[in-house]
Parts: sequence; C-alpha cells; structure tokens
Amino acid sequence: MLIDTYGRVATDLRVSLTDRCNLRCTYCMPEEGLQWLAKPDLLTDDEIVRLITIAVRDLGIEEVRFTGGEPLLRPGLVGIVERVAALTPRPQMSLTTNGIGLQRTARALRDAGLDRVNVSLDTLRPDVFTALTRRKRHDDVLRGLEAAREAGLTPVKVNTVLMPGLNDDEAPDLLAWAIAQDYELRFIEQMPLDAQHGWKRDGMITAGDILASLRTRFELTPEGQEVRGAAPAERWLVDGGPHRVGVIASVTRPFCRACDRTRLTADGQIRTCLFATEETDLRGALRSGAPDDEIARIWKLAMWGKKAGSGLDDPSFLQPDRPMSAIGG
Ligand code: SAM
Ligand code: SF4
Repeated sequence: MLIDTYGRVATDLRVSLTDRCNLRCTYCMPEEGLQWLAKPDLLTDDEIVRLITIAVRDLGIEEVRFTGGEPLLRPGLVGIVERVAALTPRPQMSLTTNGIGLQRTARALRDAGLDRVNVSLDTLRPDVFTALTRRKRHDDVLRGLEAAREAGLTPVKVNTVLMPGLNDDEAPDLLAWAIAQDYELRFIEQMPLDAQHGWKRDGMITAGDILASLRTRFELTPEGQEVRGAAPAERWLVDGGPHRVGVIASVTRPFCRACDRTRLTADGQIRTCLFATEETDLRGALRSGAPDDEIARIWKLAMWGKKAGSGLDDPSFLQPDRPMSAIGG
C-alpha cells in the first residue's frame, strides 16, 4: 500500500503523459507556451506501463487517470491504455483532456479499454473560448465531447474554471447546457499553479460565488461527497435530481485530509500532491536497472513523506516550480 504518516492511502494514480499542449489557457500557460521537456527525459511508453504495472499489482492503485499537458498529443496513448486494461487487477481508467482530437480517437480509446473522460470546457461562447485558450478550437471541443458520449466513455464529465470578467457569468448557462447534453458539470476553483504566477486569491471566483450564481436559476440540494470518500467534488442535485453538479473547491474548502492520490510526471517523478515542492525520481531508478521491488520501495517511501495539506492557507506558501501543465492536473 501507498500509505502516509497521516494514515491516508493512495489508490488513485494520475499519470501525466506529456507537458505539451495545443491550447494556452490563461490560468495555466503563457501565450508563448513553455520550454517543453526534452524527449530523452520523457518516460517511454514501456516505462510508463511498467510503472503503472508496479503501482497496480504491488502498491494498491485502483484507478489510473491519464492527463498532461494534453494527453491526446501522446502518440502511444491508445497502446498504453490497451496494455493497462490488460493488467490484473484491472484498474479503472479515465482521461482528462481538452477534447481536441477526441472526435477522432474516442472510439479507439473506448475499444482499448478506457472507461471515462473528463473534458475541459469553460465557456459556450466561441469568442470567450478564444480569449480564454488563445486558440479558435471551440467547435473541436464540442465535437470531441459528443464523440466521447457516443463512444460510451460515460459519464462524460466537463471541467470548468471560471475566470473573473471572462466567463464568470456563465455558470447557469453551462449547467443548463450540460444537463441537456447529459454531461456532468464540475466547476474547479482556480488554483495557484499557472506558469505565469498570475493567480490572486482576491480575484478568484470561489465555490461560494459559483453556488450563488447557480442558485439564481436552479435549486441545489447537497448530495454530500461523491460515493468515493476522497473524491474532491462536492456534489449537488439540481432541481431535485437526477442531474448533478460538482464543485472542486481546492482553495476555499480543501479536502487534503481525504486525499487518495499519487502522481507521476511525464519525466518520471513522483509527486505526492499538486502543490508539493519536492519530487522523487523514479526514472533514474528505472534506467539504472532497478528491479520492480526496489521501485515499489522508493514509491512507498515518497508517499510516506506526504505532507498533511497543500499549505495554501499558510502565509509561507510557495507555488511549486512545476506548473500545472507539467505536473498533470
Ligand atoms: N489539457 C487537459 C485539460 O485541459 O483537460 C489536461 C491537463 S489540465 C492541466 C487538467 C485540468 O486542470 C483542466 O480541467 C484544467 O482546466 C485544469 N487547470 C489548469 N490550470 C488550472 C488552474 N490554475 N487552476 C485550476 N484548474 C486548472
Ligand atoms: Fe492545455 Fe489543459 Fe493547460 Fe489548457 S488547462 S493550457 S488545455 S494543459
């Protein structure tokens, strides 16, 4: 098991497959992009599958989520999914994506064994999409979402970040649309993980703001935490159900005490938390010929050192050097 000194057990592994992306969301990346990781530093498909195998077979991981950067940009994605689906025990597998290219790949991903997708979409207005992501790809995302639903990658979840002055008036419209399309909408509070260090607590849209805005049009009844105790989204039934909406309030209502995550970056570093400032290198061990039990030992030791919380409320909080796109959100 991957247990820490606070008794939390990690069963959910987030795997970043690349730090590259075809969008430039203002809350994530600067307009000019970033210095991407060098190819030799990236784990190969075989190395990724080997680490996931150790995690699932020896360390109690039950759920694997592929993310990035934009994971659909990883050429070997379908093959990786197929190989992870063949593991015993077979983990649940999902993908967090901006949806560009999903129209083309949804069916192949489903056939390879992917269970679900989370697609990020912040607005229903094409011009606002262009302002938020600095790319004119709104239609591609909508088509990707439809393809995911048709391929059975369900429930299709939609992740939305609200930004002041851009899309903060859109929460009720987004919820009405998501219900009509049979997508499950989840709002994510903006976190200080952008490469430009532009996050300001004063300026962010909080869970309280989001709920107040939704309540202007919908009746929301708390559903409590998701069935999985550690899931970060608090959920509400909309107008009595069955549709729901989630809010992931990492900043104003942190859920660190129930955290069940461990993270692997595209260059083979273990992170115990999105906000961790330290990492543990697995790539070095892999490439120097360490056997599986040694890699498992290093991973366990890293998790044992997991901190109690994100430290966001601590006056000495320092944003990690690695931005969200290179950690794997
Ligand atoms: N490119 C994929 C995507 O956008 O879904 C996967 C990676 S992205 C880093 C994962 C999620 O993190 C997205 O839903 C995105 O909206 C969210 N995200 C990125 N930067 C964020 C920030 N500063 N605060 C909150 N969420 C953020
Ligand atoms: Fe790319 Fe996702 Fe970051 Fe947007 S949030 S720039 S889609 S990695």
